[in-house]
Formats: sequence, structure tokens, C-alpha cells
Amino acid sequence: MNDFDILTDSNLKNSFSVPSKVKELITVNKISCLTELYNSGEINKNTKIAGHGYNSIPKSEDESTFIKIAASDIEIVKSEGKYVCVKVGAGCGWDNFVKWSVENNYHGLENMSFIPGSVGAAPIHNIGAYGYEVSTFIVELSLFDLENGKFVTYKNIDCDFKYRTSIFKLAPNLLICDITFKIYKDSKYVLLAIEDKEISKYEETKELINLLLNSFTFNFSLKPLLKFKFDSVRDILKLSIIPTKLKRKLVKKIRTKVLPNPEVIGNSGCFFKCPILTNEQFINFKSLYPQVEYFESEEGYKISACWLIRGAGWAGRTKNGVHIDANKPVLLLNYDSATSENVLLVSNEIIENVMDKFKIKLETEAVFY
Ligand SMILES: Cc1cc2nc3c(=O)[nH]c(=O)nc-3n(C[C@H](O)[C@H](O)[C@H](O)COP(=O)(O)OP(=O)(O)OC[C@H]3O[C@@H](n4cnc5c(N)ncnc54)[C@H](O)[C@@H]3O)c2cc1C
Repeated sequence: MNDFDILTDSNLKNSFSVPSKVKELITVNKISCLTELYNSGEINKNTKIAGHGYNSIPKSEDESTFIKIAASDIEIVKSEGKYVCVKVGAGCGWDNFVKWSVENNYHGLENMSFIPGSVGAAPIHNIGAYGYEVSTFIVELSLFDLENGKFVTYKNIDCDFKYRTSIFKLAPNLLICDITFKIYKDSKYVLLAIEDKEISKYEETKELINLLLNSFTFNFSLKPLLKFKFDSVRDILKLSIIPTKLKRKLVKKIRTKVLPNPEVIGNSGCFFKCPILTNEQFINFKSLYPQVEYFESEEGYKISACWLIRGAGWAGRTKNGVHIDANKPVLLLNYDSATSENVLLVSNEIIENVMDKFKIKLETEAVFY
């Protein structure tokens, strides 16, 4: 295998299935060759970074050079009493790493099973699912700075992780080469890591626990489970008494039911973030819209992006080949050969309409190159 490969006039694979051609795509198999690539002028501060394309919409034609890390080794670098530290190459598929950790009886990542994409992209918007965020498990990252050609290490605290964001959103020059994660030898330590919270705040929770415990063979129908509030499902998936391997299976079933498969229809998962309001903003907003759908988080009140988009009249509409899902309007789907320019247009129109109607700024989770 070459240390790196260069393709010219290459397609940039993306899960929204928009057509795209970029001037040059450099795939890096060996991290040490980055210095050589920088010194020879092949890469510089204008080079754009590509991952596996599940959260990014490339232009139809882009005259830029793109770089993509393919190195994907998984290596245990430290083993202490309660945990192991594992260094993973940025090119590793995120779910390949989660699968590896579950199969090797490590705990912590299982709720984030089946999130598509690369390990290297995971910290960018601090991926998360069912109450867990990747930032909880990150120790440090090795980065290559495309601005000065130097390697640098960032500790977790340097990354300014928040809900679906991090310092990397503002630093497109930082190429993530590998990440060291801390994962646990027993699931009970995971809860300690994410702060044990009161879990039975919802009436349904106990009922759901019974349902799960009685169904350990996993032959039950998921219909009753899906009737429960999302928050309850999230709380259940935090319970350490539920075996990690079972959680992974549960997550697979739930995700298959609620998320469209990009292999079947182009999409980028949830296209918009849920806007967060402060306590004061929320009180005002709720007095205007008592029926608002929201949930509380450590960072404030998260207003349902689905609720806002539906309220702005977009649920179920199709424009310029982009369809807005009727049930979960935070999902944008490539119905009819949409281009990235179409997606940008529709996305901007939704943001504008939500602003006009609710005076709230919706932001995209997906990245436009
Ligand atoms: C069906 C579906 C379901 C999804 N479900 C979830 C979910 O449950 N939770 C969730 O959080 N997200 C979810 N997503 C979004 C997506 O899976 C994540 O954002 C994932 O991290 C994208 O990885 P990627 O490699 O495809 O990134 P890309 O789309 O290739 O890139 C995304 C961004 O990361 C940057 N980037 C990529 N690699 C690197 C690197 N090595 N160094 C520096 N920057 C880099 C790119 O420049 C770009 O800005 C979903 C997407 C889909 C399509």
C-alpha cells in the first residue's frame, strides 16, 4: 500500500448523493507522510478535509484539493483498573470501532452504535445519541495543522466540546489524525463517567424496564418500545443493568425504524440542530407558544427542530428535488436528483422561514463545503 494516493477530478462520496467533482483527492494511509505532502506544497491551509461523507454536502464542482485520512488502526495504549485507553486512526469507521469495543467487552460507546461516518469526524460536531456524546470518552487527539505543517496534540479540555459542536468547527485547518479514547471495563463505571442521573423521572420508565428485562431473548416486537417518549428510551439505554451487547442490538432496531438508510435514499441524518434557549428566553418563548416541544439539557432548553420546521410549514414538502420528511422534518431527503446548490437553497429558505415565524435561528448540523 502506498503512503498516500492522489486522484484528480475525483468524485467526493457523500450520503446525500449529490453529484460532486473535486480537483484533487489525497488519501493518506500513513500519517508520517503528511510532513512530506506539506513540504512539497501538495497540501496547505486551503486544503479541505473529507471524512466518509455522512454529514457534508460537497459542491457540484470544487477546484480545491481535499485530503482524507484512511489510517484506521485500533490499538490499546494503556490499561488501568477500571478502563483502557485506545488509540484509533481517523480513517476507521466509527461503528467499526464501537463494534470492536463491544465485542471486546468494553463499555461506553454502545449507545452511539451505528452512527455512520469516520472516527476522525466524530469530535467535529461531537456526535451523540441516546444521552451519550463522544466527548465524554475522548482523552486526546493528534492533529496536523494545515496552516503551518506541524503536528500538535489537543487534550479533551482544549476542544471546547458542547452540544453538536467543538473548537474544530472554527478550525478547518486542523486535520485529526488519530484519537485516544477512554472506555470502561465494566458498564457501571460508564454511568459514573457521565454523571449518574436520576433515571426514573418518567412514569413509563419502570414499565419499559420490565418490558426489556422480560424480553432478554430479544424476540419481542419493538412497537411498544417506540410508543415511549424519546427521553425514556434514552434513559433506559443509560441503565448499566442492561447488558452492553443488548443495548447495541436495541440501538440498531430503533435506528433502523426511525432513520432513513442513505444507501436507499440520500440524506445526512438530522440536517438541523435543536436551537438552545436560556431560561429567560425559554420562558418568553413558551408564553408565546405554550405547545412548544422541547427538552431540558445542561446547556439550556433544546427546542425541537422538527417542531419549528413543521410550524414554519415545511413538513412533507418537496422543493428542487429536496424532500422534507413529513414525520421527522429535521430529515432532508434527496428525492429527485438534488444538487448541493438545491440543498443549500432549501436549507436557507427553511432557516429564513423559521426565523420569520419564531425569531429563532436554526443552524445546520450538516456541513456545506
Ligand atoms: C443516516 C444518518 C444518521 C446519523 N445519525 C447521527 C446520530 O445519531 N448522531 C450524530 O451525532 N450524527 C449522526 N449523523 C451524522 C454523521 O453520522 C456524523 O456527523 C459523522 O461524524 C460524520 O462522519 P463523516 O466521516 O461522514 O464526516 P464527513 O461528512 O465526511 O465530514 C464532516 C465534517 O468533519 C470534517 N472532518 C472529517 N474528517 C476529519 C478529520 N479527520 N479531521 C478534521 N476534520 C474532519 C469535514 O471537513 C466536515 O467538516 C447521521 C448521519 C446519517 C446520514
